[in-house]
Amino acid sequence: MNLKELQTFCQDNGESAFRGSQLYEWMYRHGVDTIEEMSNLSQSFREKLSENCSIQTLHVDRTNPSQIDQSVKLLFRTLDQQFIETVSMVDGNRHTVCLSSQVGCALDCRFCATGEMGLTRNLTTGEIVDQLIYVRKHIAQPITNVVFMGMGEPFHNYENVLNAADIFHDPKGFNLASTRITISTVGLLPQIQQFIQENRRYKLAISLNAAFDKDRSKIMPVNKKWPIEDLIHAGREYSNQKKRQVMFEYVLLKGVNDSEEDALELAGLLKNVECKINVIPYNEMGGEFTRPDTQTIEKFVNVLHKHRRGYRVLVRWSKGQDIAAGCGQLAGQTA
Ligand code: SAH
Repeated sequence: MNLKELQTFCQDNGESAFRGSQLYEWMYRHGVDTIEEMSNLSQSFREKLSENCSIQTLHVDRTNPSQIDQSVKLLFRTLDQQFIETVSMVDGNRHTVCLSSQVGCALDCRFCATGEMGLTRNLTTGEIVDQLIYVRKHIAQPITNVVFMGMGEPFHNYENVLNAADIFHDPKGFNLASTRITISTVGLLPQIQQFIQENRRYKLAISLNAAFDKDRSKIMPVNKKWPIEDLIHAGREYSNQKKRQVMFEYVLLKGVNDSEEDALELAGLLKNVECKINVIPYNEMGGEFTRPDTQTIEKFVNVLHKHRRGYRVLVRWSKGQDIAAGCGQLAGQTA
């Protein structure tokens, strides 16, 4: 529940709205495990809550630390026995947590492990927030960034994801700056437009992944509905309105979207768009797609750099590759 819901809940149960604020802070700011610990609530209210409510929605099933870097993959089980994964990545002072928004995903991107699962259901706001509560409690390094880049399509679960992001941003919640919360979408145009219209301040990332519609449609069926041009247009609108760079993600797949021609086309498409391009060398899953060799990756990036106007380019080397914690590798594998 968010603050308003908690306040209403308390009022419906004969308590003041202020009790709702207290519950909110105990759960999200302090991350207590039990209602008993909420020491400024009356004993009788605590008892009533303990009998009728639960504040934990996830159980950690497995903790898998990488041997090559400071990343940890967590496998959570929900109350209805579904599995989701979360990744914590520490790099110097930066601690980024990659959250899941759905059990599985409906989008069917051909190169993505979560896509292969199909969609089981949306996560609740509680299940999204619980992932972060768990990481904050068990990994000492303070959390600096949150990315909705785990399992699922965040904009297919718009309300719960935004509710969770608001709790992360709230000074009485996790107190994270809006610029440290990134929502990555496959490119659902109506929700991108809603996000812009609602004046949401979180960072927006759009998974472009190809420079030509014919290629994008092959690897991302959603492209038939909302093609590249629409997404670039929406991205430009976001960056113009928010004065904040939109991020375009581009997964490099060998022989599919990694040629010089692809890079030139991409440079042309994004010319004069205030954006960041995140090139992600493909994390293999044993299927039909493979990662290009280092030379091809460098060449692709160099072409982008050479034609740069308006955008910045970064290569994102996924962490936790030995524990299948890289982009697109999350699939609740124990399940
Ligand atoms: N559904 C959202 C967020 C989840 S995926 C989205 O599509 O944006 C986060 C990023 O990982 C996306 O850019 C996606 O294209 C990329 N990705 C998926 N599978 C991958 C893989 N196997 N290797 C590298 N990146 C991958």
